[in-house]
Amino acid sequence: MLVRNSDFASLKSLFNTNNIFNFIAGPCAIEDLHQMEKVAQFLVHNNIPFIRGGAYKPRTSPYDFQGLGIEGLKILDNIRKQYHLFALSEIMDPRDVEYGIRYTDIIQIGSRNMTNYSLLREVGKTKHPVLLKRGMMSTYEEFLLAAEYIASNGNNNIIMCERGIRTFETLTRNTLDISCIAMLKSETHLPVIVDLSHSLGRKDIVLPIMKCLISLDIDGVMLEVHPEPEKAKSDSRQQFNLEEFENLLKALPR
Ligand code: PEP
Ligand code: MN
Repeated sequence: MLVRNSDFASLKSLFNTNNIFNFIAGPCAIEDLHQMEKVAQFLVHNNIPFIRGGAYKPRTSPYDFQGLGIEGLKILDNIRKQYHLFALSEIMDPRDVEYGIRYTDIIQIGSRNMTNYSLLREVGKTKHPVLLKRGMMSTYEEFLLAAEYIASNGNNNIIMCERGIRTFETLTRNTLDISCIAMLKSETHLPVIVDLSHSLGRKDIVLPIMKCLISLDIDGVMLEVHPEPEKAKSDSRQQFNLEEFENLLKALPR
């Protein structure tokens, strides 16, 4: 089992800012250049080196906004070059992996695609950093085995992302599995990121949960932030606006 034993220190050096948490932050979906510029300026101002934004959006309904596709990736590429940020975006189709390599610094494999083995193999054949999200109905063991698909094809640059699993609870979008985080930290040497936007689906409990994550020694937090969340084309309710996000940063211990 490659991911249980190997030393993946190279990627970890990316996550070395002085903040209590490294953040990967940005909107759920890339909507236009202006939106991404506003977010990028905010991140630079707050010393956050990682920007996220979905170009290919895996939506439950085919009638919902599906993302700008390749045009969105090109916007992200412009932004990362202009603002010297690392950019993360989801790729859903093995045929689009080459775009992921060209236009992002980290390819995200989303929750719905954790078991898309053709996609895992394809990113495994590259050396490009991959952020792998836990499937919403996958066990810890299945999550590790998905990472094995990538590692066994030759790519060790894997970041594990816990984003909550489906339970009977409805007041949060998913149930954040803290045990999974602790097991990843003790059993693997992979960087571990916790996506609080998609696990909680609400903003009001992000701060207390972040305070408890401090003791788990995670490598970073993913959060959705949008200049105007109320107008967002997806995940409007869970996205922080810039002021809310700044207040969250101020409320965290240094
Ligand atoms: C996302 O991060 O844009 C996303 C769709 O998340 P998940 O795959 O965790 O649902
Ligand atoms: Mn989202």
